[in-house]
Amino acid sequence: MKDIALRVQRVSPSLTLEITAKAKKMKEDGIAVVSFGAGEPDFNTPDYILRAGKEALDKGVTKYTPASGTIAIRKEIAKKLKYDNGLDYDFSQIVVSNGAKHALYNACMAIINKGDEVIIPAPYWLTYPELVKLADGVPVYIDADAKEGFKITPQQLKKAITKKTKAIIFNNPSNPTGAVYTKDEIIQLAKIIEDADIYVISDEIYEKLTYDDIEYYSIASYSKKLYENTIVVNGVSKSYSMTGWRIGYTACNATLAKAIASMQSHVTSNPNSIAQYATVVALESDEGEKFLRDMKKTFDERRKLISSLLSNAQIKYVYPQGAFYVMASVQETFGKTANGKVIKSASDFASALLESKAVATIPCESFGASGYVRLSYAISNDDITSGIQKMEQFIKELK
Ligand code: PLP
Repeated sequence: MKDIALRVQRVSPSLTLEITAKAKKMKEDGIAVVSFGAGEPDFNTPDYILRAGKEALDKGVTKYTPASGTIAIRKEIAKKLKYDNGLDYDFSQIVVSNGAKHALYNACMAIINKGDEVIIPAPYWLTYPELVKLADGVPVYIDADAKEGFKITPQQLKKAITKKTKAIIFNNPSNPTGAVYTKDEIIQLAKIIEDADIYVISDEIYEKLTYDDIEYYSIASYSKKLYENTIVVNGVSKSYSMTGWRIGYTACNATLAKAIASMQSHVTSNPNSIAQYATVVALESDEGEKFLRDMKKTFDERRKLISSLLSNAQIKYVYPQGAFYVMASVQETFGKTANGKVIKSASDFASALLESKAVATIPCESFGASGYVRLSYAISNDDITSGIQKMEQFIKELK
């Protein structure tokens, strides 16, 4: 048999799959697992959006749409980008895809040539390096320091840029760290990016989930040049709790948008027509504001709860200001023993914690943070409380 393509051989298997599969099996076996693994809001899609989905079916909105999405959805997204981010896009500059992940894939495929370097601040969402590799690019990591709140500094960025740098993937707020850059911090980075004349893939999927009154700032709004060089990626998965509907998008300059649109027209064609219809309603209705306010308030309360529990348990973490994740340090446990096995990595820690206390966490080796586990607080207060208490107990019992 001939070899499979090098491109797919380069893609790394996800280390998180093993632990989530184990947690799932335990649940199926009737064990009450507290899972900090969730990557999505634990809210139903709001009723007004569900109604719109049903209406789409009743109206027969079940056929192909233009490959980049209907004019209605692209106009609604353009309105959102103007209203929320002060960015001017014609609807033709927007391509609606099957979730933000697909939009990120399109962005990478559209700008990366073989050997191009793409800067990825670490810790990062584990998909970024794989997308860069799929596009034959070379991921270049900048290690953001926990002491800097897991945010890269302008000096670090300057140092990482070479003649081969094509782009940076900038994720704000960040999965997995929950870090949020202030407007000022973004401007410092934007100046360097502008000088270097590189692209920015700006993943803004958690835009609506920032706390502590941080003003959200899209890097694309810094200057005309940054606007031209940025591919904004966003979607409705996290903000409207629509992860299963699969609607995300890119907004970028007209030339790139055309290239992305024609690529998508050959690969997937349009994203789901019913989901597109419901997304128009999600974005245009005033009910969205209320849903968002309530969801954000709940996440904020849980964020404070989990932070205080971690502090009380003397588990080190970086105070999160966005999304619904917090990174807890587990490197202090390395070298200790659980059930006769030495913990040498975050994966060892997560496996042993799951086996001993039925608490699932996401080890962060694949997120570029080998001494940490990611905890998602998209779960109930009760689960947060009992999960952290069990984690504390587990750490105390280590030999
Ligand atoms: N970007 C980040 C940082 C994410 O965490 C996720 C989902 O977990 C996505 C993009 C993908 O979003 P979607 O579900 O719309 O593909």
